[in-house]
Amino acid sequence: MVEQYTYLKPLGLYIHVPFCLKKCCYCDFTSYPYSEAAAGVYLDALFKEIELYSQGLPGWDKALASIFIGGGTPTCLPSRSLTAVLDRLSEVFSLLPGCEVTIEANPGTVDRQALIELRKGGVNRLSLGIQAFQDQLLSMLGRIHTAAEAVETTRAARMAGFEDLNLDFIFGIPGQTLADWQETLSLAASLEPEHIAVYGLQLEAGTPLENLVSRGKIQPCSEDLELFLYQTAIQYLSGQGYVHYEISNFARPGRESIHNLGYWLNRYYLGLGPAAHSYLPCGRYANESTLEGYAGRLAQGELPVSTTEAGTVRTEMAETMFLGLRLISGVDLTAFYQRFGRRVEDVYRLEITRLLKAGFVEFANGRLRLTAAGLPLANEVFIEFL
Ligand code: SF4
Repeated sequence: MVEQYTYLKPLGLYIHVPFCLKKCCYCDFTSYPYSEAAAGVYLDALFKEIELYSQGLPGWDKALASIFIGGGTPTCLPSRSLTAVLDRLSEVFSLLPGCEVTIEANPGTVDRQALIELRKGGVNRLSLGIQAFQDQLLSMLGRIHTAAEAVETTRAARMAGFEDLNLDFIFGIPGQTLADWQETLSLAASLEPEHIAVYGLQLEAGTPLENLVSRGKIQPCSEDLELFLYQTAIQYLSGQGYVHYEISNFARPGRESIHNLGYWLNRYYLGLGPAAHSYLPCGRYANESTLEGYAGRLAQGELPVSTTEAGTVRTEMAETMFLGLRLISGVDLTAFYQRFGRRVEDVYRLEITRLLKAGFVEFANGRLRLTAAGLPLANEVFIEFL
């Protein structure tokens, strides 16, 4: 399956939109309550940042394989603003044929008209944060939409002309039962999206949901149930014709996310917007995390970079291993050798020997990949390569 990924071009572009209508109870991402004034400050700064990159960087190819507008909730912004950003990007960068242009949207923040405008404006992939199809679970998460609105938005996206849809879901929500999850998966498949992502709920420190759990006000999902829900998703979605191609991601054959594959193949990407991260031939760097800091730097004509890390070949090899092992097909041994001039088996001889003995990884088809036993323990496997 991975042979097809060799057509991937090296640069993806990520834009972080830091606004949400309301903060969800489990979220620790950088986001602010949406207001027209704050959106104006953000957009003004974003156009300045694009302008600075229009002059180019040493060793940097401006050809784009993918654009991903994420957040936050990008669709808090008016569609005409989002399409104006895309127009400017297509003038400054060179969008390769088949360039995947994704926008994240949440039900309750887009209507059919907005979706039509986005589609006409060049967005060709929509990623909807549905999370669950039970209103009580959506309410537990602090989401603003209902299950009925999620179905309605998915159908509206189809009517607006989106032929590439991703739906995001969460398992391991406090109070979620196996029956809830089966209902969610079944309804998700009945909507026939090209792509489905399922994530285990992370109880991030300092969030209201984590606070309720740590004070014993609500019971978290047990580890056993969470694992069973994950395995249920793999079994059910595979049976529905979805290819399980990454730990959390499923796609119709050939409809894998080009942008996210770029991350897992440890390709270069440029991040714009507050708190966005970049990985370019010159290193990894992070933008100012606050809107104020980000806009302030750009107002002075500076790139809003707050931290940089030159990186070493050793760290690049480690990243290539643990990101590549997220793919179900695993790390391509030939590609690793071509990139670094060294064999995976030589660089990580001890680590791989340990993992093979434990039954967590295996060699197959010129790749090193997680086994079924290693999949639920992926994080422990990744630590071996750090
Ligand atoms: S919509 Fe997404 S980014 Fe915004 S608060 Fe909720 S989970 Fe976080």
